[in-house]
Amino acid sequence: MIQTTDVVVVGAGIVGLAHAWASARRGRSVALLERGPVASGASVRNFGMVWPVGQPVEVLPVALRSRALWLEAAVEAGFWHHTRGSVFLAVHEDELAVMREFVEGPAAAGYDCTMLTQDQVLALCPAANRARVIGGFASTTEVGVDPREAIATLPSMLANRHGVRVRFDTPAVRIEPGLVHTADGSAYEARERVVVCSGAETRTLFPEVFDRQDLTLCKLQMLATGAQPAGWSAGPMIASGPTLRHYTSFAGCPTLAELKRRVAEQAPELDAMGIHFMAAQNGAGEVVLGDSHEYGEPVSPFDRGDIDAVMLRGLRELLDLPDWSIARRWHGVYLKAPGRTHFVHEPLPGVTVFNGLGGAGMTLSFGLADAFWEDGTEKTLPTTTHTLEKDGATP
Ligand SMILES: Cc1cc2nc3c(=O)[nH]c(=O)nc-3n(C[C@H](O)[C@H](O)[C@H](O)COP(=O)(O)OP(=O)(O)OC[C@H]3O[C@@H](n4cnc5c(N)ncnc54)[C@H](O)[C@@H]3O)c2cc1C
Repeated sequence: MIQTTDVVVVGAGIVGLAHAWASARRGRSVALLERGPVASGASVRNFGMVWPVGQPVEVLPVALRSRALWLEAAVEAGFWHHTRGSVFLAVHEDELAVMREFVEGPAAAGYDCTMLTQDQVLALCPAANRARVIGGFASTTEVGVDPREAIATLPSMLANRHGVRVRFDTPAVRIEPGLVHTADGSAYEARERVVVCSGAETRTLFPEVFDRQDLTLCKLQMLATGAQPAGWSAGPMIASGPTLRHYTSFAGCPTLAELKRRVAEQAPELDAMGIHFMAAQNGAGEVVLGDSHEYGEPVSPFDRGDIDAVMLRGLRELLDLPDWSIARRWHGVYLKAPGRTHFVHEPLPGVTVFNGLGGAGMTLSFGLADAFWEDGTEKTLPTTTHTLEKDGATP
């Protein structure tokens, strides 16, 4: 049986959901095919940080457009979210120096950040460890969502409010121009375009495209506490001094090299394990903690206890949580296009592969898909020419 729509999207992670929404909003009829009974890839395994502050200045407009779309989607779909922004906590003078250069330097234009004294940090962020934290900065633009809830809720919003035909348990097994064949022998015809958003799954469809691109898989380990005591709030989403090494927005800060040197000398395990410290409290009161970065294949199915131990040691220096009981541990894998925000490729006429958003998929997908469908091509999509380090731009 062949079903026909204007657009067929493969994959119901955040990238596929964003394309389905952006095209449906512009009047296209859309089918969204997801191989699993639910989406269970990187999009449900992340912090839920919509994180403009980490994006380089040329990508900031698309991150802010994404932010606006997240707020719209949260209202339309009815999922939990907050607009408390983010706070970067410093425990070393060199971290504070880089933060000051970012907040008060020429790079600050477009971001909305304020330096904070120790007292101001402690007032804003009850989770900060008062024995260690010496100051920091706050940014207003970050939005928090619970990815497990948002990614589970968005397909119903697309189906009920935008007429998208959402099909779970429907793996795409072969694609021709304008036609997607699925595992049950059905086919989905696209009058206008097929968009393939298969995330870290690069083996099934167009493996030659993934082989040809300069792409890398990255595995991240994460932890979450149980619900904190009722009424206790961690404050904004939290990042750390070592986080400054990871996002390209801080790459131009003159003393960043000094901070990196000190970390390399005093805590080489952070570089070896790709660790920096972030935390986000969700609507259930749990604090999601992370993260590490291991690049390349094969991706081990097994998580490393030493990585968790290093993460927890650093997080406990940074944070003072009422309850440190770890309720869940997991890892996620994403595909990254080093030096670029994402990659877009047309392996067949009318078929677009859209992937490689690395550690910024929650932050950029809505904005990138919106720009793509506004223009209908990849011409106007923002990208970055920054040469990123292997672990760049990854929460
Ligand atoms: C631990 C972790 C923390 C992160 N934190 C953040 C963060 O806080 N903020 C942020 O901006 N980004 C974050 N990221 C990055 C972000 O999660 C990813 O960039 C994003 O989820 C990638 O989305 P995706 O849709 O490409 O992939 P996925 O979410 O993996 O979705 C791909 C989907 O395609 C489906 N699929 C694959 N093949 C087929 C097929 N043949 N047929 C049908 N369906 C198919 C899969 O089942 C899957 O559901 C984090 C990532 C990880 C792993």
